[in-house]
Amino acid sequence: MLHIYCPYCGEHREQNEFHPKGQAHILRPQDPENCSDEAWGDYLFYRDNPRGIHHEMWVHATGCRKFFNVTRHTVSYEILETYKMGEQPQVTAQSQSTGGEK
Ligand SMILES: [Zn+2]
Repeated sequence: MLHIYCPYCGEHREQNEFHPKGQAHILRPQDPENCSDEAWGDYLFYRDNPRGIHHEMWVHATGCRKFFNVTRHTVSYEILETYKMGEQPQVTAQSQSTGGEK
């Protein structure tokens, strides 16, 4: 079982308190009325499926009920960091490929 650090509660909790909610950092098109069908379709339906570093949105469903982001390695399942909504990840695929340097 994974133990996940909730950045709002400030402590590690068991995985069954949380639910994954899909890819993080998906931006709604600024002007939906004037964006192309392809851009709108990408926003609604298409998600990344990387082998390696992935940024995901999770919710602390039976805890504080707040959404936050998780950086997880999709091969090892290792959770590398969690961070609050609106914050940016410290660990990215790019930082990992250069040995952790930005
Ligand atoms: Zn929490």
